[in-house]
Amino acid sequence: AGTLYVVATPIGNLADISARAREVLAGVDAICAEDTRHTRQLLQALGIDRPLVALHEHNEDAAAAKLVERLRAGERLALVSDAGTPLVSDPGYRFVRAARAAGMKVSPLPGACAAIAALSVAGLPSDRFCFEGFLPAKAAARRERLAALVGEPRTLVFYESAHRIGEALADLIAVFGGEREAVLARELTKLFETVLGDSLAELAARVAADPDQRRGEFVLVVRGNHDDADARLREGRRLYTKLCEHLK
Ligand code: SAM
Repeated sequence: AGTLYVVATPIGNLADISARAREVLAGVDAICAEDTRHTRQLLQALGIDRPLVALHEHNEDAAAAKLVERLRAGERLALVSDAGTPLVSDPGYRFVRAARAAGMKVSPLPGACAAIAALSVAGLPSDRFCFEGFLPAKAAARRERLAALVGEPRTLVFYESAHRIGEALADLIAVFGGEREAVLARELTKLFETVLGDSLAELAARVAADPDQRRGEFVLVVRGNHDDADARLREGRRLYTKLCEHLK
């Protein structure tokens, strides 16, 4: 039987591709990619020419079934996403699941991941953390998600896009309070990399004051809630009640 390699690619700096990732990508029968045009560019930059197969959110189940047949036939396939580690806020979960269910070997090629990169420079407790990915796009759902996290004692890691960073910070302040410590990691490994650590209120003010701080890609790392458990529960209930009233 074949092997499915799950290959991390850079999150900005091309030099972050691992030697093993290059070797595997150059040697597989095909590379399954979220966006084939995007991955074609990466492969060109690496001097690699392998066939590409599209595997994205909208065709994943159908594509996975065909790809598992190719693995059964003994092919070696790689799975990549547009940036960083596949399956981390990226497609691939269904394909990996199908390949494993079929008894195929699935092997990771670890590398860049924006959440881990941000956590590694945030200077917030990192022995335990909670990866929350993207918050919901709609305001009501976003606040509801945050209300459920207000008492979480572990460090929280969120992904955010440029056009929603202001709103996300405003909602975090509304639900967690402006005093909560956080780190905003922007454009990691790229030319305009910035890592700002401050209270949520200060971070929101800095982002509002400087349009440059609203450009690019963001990871927001937020200190967990270390209040005593009872206070946490009370605060969670209070906010939830307030939110429900607000949503009526
Ligand atoms: N699979 C990727 C990973 O391993 O990090 C994440 C893919 S997700 C669709 C894209 C989001 O990751 C962006 O909106 C941003 O929140 C975060 N991200 C990706 N690259 C980044 C970078 N260079 N700096 C900061 N955040 C980044």
